[in-house]
Amino acid sequence: MASAQTTYQDQTKLHQIVQSISAQNIEQDITKLVGFGTRHTLSDTQSETRGIGAARRWIKSEFDAISKQCGDCLEVYYQSQVIEGEKRIPNATEVVSVIAIQRGVSDPNRYVLMSGDIDSRVSDVMDFTSNSPGANDNATGVAGTLEAARVLSQYKFNGSIVYAALAGEEQGLFGGKILAENAQKDGWRLKAVLNNDMIGNIAGINGVINNSSARVFAEGTRVTETEKEATTRRFTGGEVDSPSRNLARYIDWIADRYIPNLDTMVIYRLDRFGRGGHHRPFNDLGYPAVRIMETNENYNRQHQDLRSEHGIEYGDTLAGVNFPYVAKLTSLNAASLASMAWAPSPPAKVQISGAVQASTTLGWQASNKQQNPQLAGYKIYWRYTDAPQWQYSKYVGDVTEYTLENVVIDNYFFGVASVSKDGFESPVVFPGTAGSFGE
Ligand SMILES: [Zn+2]
Repeated sequence: MASAQTTYQDQTKLHQIVQSISAQNIEQDITKLVGFGTRHTLSDTQSETRGIGAARRWIKSEFDAISKQCGDCLEVYYQSQVIEGEKRIPNATEVVSVIAIQRGVSDPNRYVLMSGDIDSRVSDVMDFTSNSPGANDNATGVAGTLEAARVLSQYKFNGSIVYAALAGEEQGLFGGKILAENAQKDGWRLKAVLNNDMIGNIAGINGVINNSSARVFAEGTRVTETEKEATTRRFTGGEVDSPSRNLARYIDWIADRYIPNLDTMVIYRLDRFGRGGHHRPFNDLGYPAVRIMETNENYNRQHQDLRSEHGIEYGDTLAGVNFPYVAKLTSLNAASLASMAWAPSPPAKVQISGAVQASTTLGWQASNKQQNPQLAGYKIYWRYTDAPQWQYSKYVGDVTEYTLENVVIDNYFFGVASVSKDGFESPVVFPGTAGSFGE
């Protein structure tokens, strides 16, 4: 969904990043991951060729190789925790994710994160021995994350970028929970989680075949909202402007401008109806997090034993993955991560006033100049209350308050973005706790 009446600076570097993403690398990596036979969380950890242990060691070795290419620009590590006594992990099992951090130059404790999932499953979620290729679910997410790291590690950014291959998704979202809890414990200023889960299927169960559309799922009001905050929101708004929603609008905005032949559908839901993904544990702690995925799913290829029945092939095999499409969605991730990591930190403590007045005034906290030496100033956005995307904008310079003359507060939703000297913008921050990106 395009917004025609806002101005922006076209970024050559983002076009370069998009063009550098390789469908061939992605195909190789997905094929390699499928080759481990099964990546079930409870599968073999000793073999060098089969099972979850071999798969995670290979992912770590890939991140290490990428890091070597950029002069050790990545901090690569395993993040593990022993889980037991859970419905889908009854016996003590090490759940091991692989994390790589590309440290930001001026604001290293500010993070944007891209993730995919290592593990796979078949019909019985406890079956850890049968072949479980997990080609689309979710080798595509891991391969995309590796390829984004390959390309983005050729650049230097102001903020940090995290590349995460998360474990234990199918058994209960454990890897995401462990990473989110550690991020909170370590005081990460985590501004965006782009969780990729199934980004390679273009032939839907309903017969639609389409490679030019993707979905971005984003929850509404934060689950961490207090009763007092909910009461405030009732009178001032924010139901459709959680930071996750404005992160989703940002990604949609990038798609319109930088990704040829791709339109994203921002979906005002946490996830698919009644279903789950690894962005949720981040949302649970109040972090802005979305799920990026294909528009057209094929349920015959998800969580299925490999078999043929009545002429229908079941199972999540390479045949169901369109590699150029995975590359397209990976390029959307990479451009979004790069744009946010080059932009200054999203404005903090955004406030708004203007009841019973002709004009609307927005205020915010001055950004930390040491962390954000690239900051030029701020840009106010507004839109009609039923519009999906920001419609109007005004660059207001390096100030901490601005009044939009004769723009009546009741008739629009408003937000503020920070802008770098070369025109990179943060996501738009809606005023108050409802829209806050965490500071
Ligand atoms: Zn799954």
